[in-house]
Amino acid sequence: MPSDCIFCQIAAGERAADVVYANDRVVAFRDIYPAAPTHILIIPRQHITGPSALNAETARVVGEMFLVAGQVAAQENLAESGYRLVVNQGADGGQSVFHMHLHVLGGRKLTWPPG
Ligand code: AMP
Repeated sequence: MPSDCIFCQIAAGERAADVVYANDRVVAFRDIYPAAPTHILIIPRQHITGPSALNAETARVVGEMFLVAGQVAAQENLAESGYRLVVNQGADGGQSVFHMHLHVLGGRKLTWPPG
């Protein structure tokens, strides 16, 4: 684990976060700068920089990230109203933290296309 990765630190419990769900493979916590009334990030515990770095083995955790996203969205009462799942990759994708994460955004009507 890179010692300067803030999401590795959150996963290890070394940095404070508002954790809403965790298991042995993934952690979900509230985004510190929410872009919607509900904004939760789901990360693998394993340090994977982003979708471009996935391989056949590490890709398995992606399914679990989506499974947890659905569960967390239901917990946040978003299942009926709807929500958006986003993964940013690289500079043009808007990625600012280089530990893969799935954004769960909801609680307001989201516009499309994204900026
Ligand atoms: P991205 O731009 O897709 O890389 O998303 C990174 C997200 O991490 C942004 O929405 C930030 O607000 C969020 N973020 C950065 N630092 C923290 C932190 N310490 N705790 C929770 N969320 C964070």
